Amino acid sequence: MRNLIWLAAAAAVLILVVVWMRDDSAAPTQEAAEAAAEAPAPKVALIDDERINNADSEPGSWLAHGRTYEEHRFSPLTSINRGNAASLGLAWYRDLGTNRALEATPIVVDGVMYFTTTWSRVYAVNAATGEDLWSYDPQVPKEWGRWACCDVVNRGVAVYQGKIYVASLDGRLIALDAATGALAWEVDTLIDRSLHYTITGAPRVAKGKVFIGNGGAEYGVRGYVTAYDADTGDQVWRFYTVPGDPSLPFEHPELEMAAETWKGGEWWKLGGGGTVWNAIVYDPDFDQVYLGVGNGSPWTRAIRSPGGGDNLFLSSIIAVDADTGAMNWHYQTTPGDNWDYTAVQDMALAEMEVDGQLRKVLLQAPKNGFFYVLDREDGELLRAHPYATVTWATHVDLETGRPVENPDSDYLDKPQWVLPGPLGGHNWQAMAVDVEAGLVYLPAHDVPFFFSMAKEWRDTGVYKPNPGSWNLGVQLAEVSQLINDNLDSRPQPLGYLKAFDPLTGEEKWSVEHPHYWNGGVLATAGGLVFQGDALGMFTAYDKDNGEVLWQFNAQVSMLAPPVTYEIDGEQHVSILTGSGGGELFSGETAPSPASLTYGNFGRLLTFKLGGGAALPAPTSVDRSIPEQVLPEMAAEDLMRGERLYNTYCSLCHGVFARSGGAITDLRLLSEERHALFNQAVLGGLYANKGMASFADSLVVEDVSKIQAFVRFRAYEDREVALGNQEEPRLSWLN
Ligand code: CA
Repeated sequence: MRNLIWLAAAAAVLILVVVWMRDDSAAPTQEAAEAAAEAPAPKVALIDDERINNADSEPGSWLAHGRTYEEHRFSPLTSINRGNAASLGLAWYRDLGTNRALEATPIVVDGVMYFTTTWSRVYAVNAATGEDLWSYDPQVPKEWGRWACCDVVNRGVAVYQGKIYVASLDGRLIALDAATGALAWEVDTLIDRSLHYTITGAPRVAKGKVFIGNGGAEYGVRGYVTAYDADTGDQVWRFYTVPGDPSLPFEHPELEMAAETWKGGEWWKLGGGGTVWNAIVYDPDFDQVYLGVGNGSPWTRAIRSPGGGDNLFLSSIIAVDADTGAMNWHYQTTPGDNWDYTAVQDMALAEMEVDGQLRKVLLQAPKNGFFYVLDREDGELLRAHPYATVTWATHVDLETGRPVENPDSDYLDKPQWVLPGPLGGHNWQAMAVDVEAGLVYLPAHDVPFFFSMAKEWRDTGVYKPNPGSWNLGVQLAEVSQLINDNLDSRPQPLGYLKAFDPLTGEEKWSVEHPHYWNGGVLATAGGLVFQGDALGMFTAYDKDNGEVLWQFNAQVSMLAPPVTYEIDGEQHVSILTGSGGGELFSGETAPSPASLTYGNFGRLLTFKLGGGAALPAPTSVDRSIPEQVLPEMAAEDLMRGERLYNTYCSLCHGVFARSGGAITDLRLLSEERHALFNQAVLGGLYANKGMASFADSLVVEDVSKIQAFVRFRAYEDREVALGNQEEPRLSWLN
């Protein structure tokens, strides 16, 4: 009887999955901007190349993404220093009306702070008070959120010649008047809007041009970077990072050489990957732009390029001429990428004495675990010391410039844990460079992943891309079982802040964080390193030894890098709060990140010496799991539900149905919300929050199985919480 009732209920209601987000209601109004646009706007934010090149002459500003073209994120300001950091306090805060992740680096110029929030929204606020000047909402179609692998984030604006540049999640590059927020121009950067491109990165500007790439490799796209005229939005050049369909002509000559390194297979049908979703850095010394190139699509080379080959320019740093986009040199960090090892991480430019010779160098810690020092003139490899735990390779051979893979770690025939995992040893969270000390302050982590070739490929030798989800070439549908079955041998996920010497590979000091997924870094001449962490602590460390000099409990997890600036002679430090992404494959809830404990509040926090403002008292979120109405379901159907959940839902809602905090934890759904499961998954009920309909991929029967899996997972974790059983059952697959 119960069985029948359930079946009737399931058939009638049907519900489930994927992206069910919490309220995200703050859409900035544009009325102020429109009203202001009628009056002639004063010229503000007149940043140009010269001003950025001379950034140290106005240390109170933060003119560009990494402060200067060199992107050291090291401020010359010293008013806040070792001696007085203990008296830092909150000056003001600004609620931003979102509980999705914030990742932007604010730009501060002429007393105004410009930054972005979720859905590519732009804010201009008074940098002294946080008061709104204007805001702009590019009205990203919310269904596009489904294609944002790691939340609907944005890493910031560029400011140049009185304009503010932002790239929208759905692939547009937008120029706004800095004084009013009025639209100056907008271009569509996408080569094909039916493909699942997203943009989360900050544009960079130099020499009258705006440079922007995109993301989406896991969804089957082909990476490229485009330069636009900063004044007009006209396209100047475009550089594709991987070759396209070989039956068509090459778009530019570099691709002919690249195509020779792709062998067999039909990579172009899955785009090939190589997206440039984060770092693009202009080098005034050589008048070239460095592109940090992402991983392959799919991840596995045996599927992507079965005849072998390096698969240029995946996982590479490419130097192109700033005016023409012609390639000057390239260096590939991970030839034949097989692990999602992007080289999109931030790049810093410096001059360093290497082996007795002063060299102009580029510094990068890509995902693959090695810290690269390259000569900027020709891309010559100078150093590549490991900065995190590395099992996929033994070392990088400085003679050949290539990593030496560890045959024992090859997962082609032997599924296993590999370090780093797809989160990398370092991800997009920015590092800071301290040239004087010869150190980088690096947010690093050891988060393993259990790599196993996709089951269908192992069974049949054929891999069929899935247009509705990630295409990895490794097992995704069975990810929960793989983790569960191999928990005993899993290296513990850990997070660090490291003071790392890129020339010697030595760690001067290292702070171990309770959680692995922490924020970007700011360093200052005041002797401080600032970083926000997963547990909600915003900390100033002594840059000489890692000693904690000051801490503020922000009550929310942080990923964004802090910035510092000066107003009327007073130094300020600002950071955006709220975490997201990255909880994809850990399935961990302990130690609980602050965003789970208190809620994922998107805020802008600003500190100064003697600041006396306070945040509202935190309230712990009720995370008790409601009693579950368990369906009667055949084991094979429940297992099918788990596979579908892993394929379509886990990317946002978390493996084992355990959310990381930014996106709804489905175990906590009330019966009222369970009743809407089907409307949410197939009907697009929450499309305006980014939970698009999955009717293109799932049918009603699928949804009932996914919902059942969620209920069983919830039941297990509830039983453990109630003390009725010791261990939860994590997977039903076999
Ligand atoms: Ca990737």
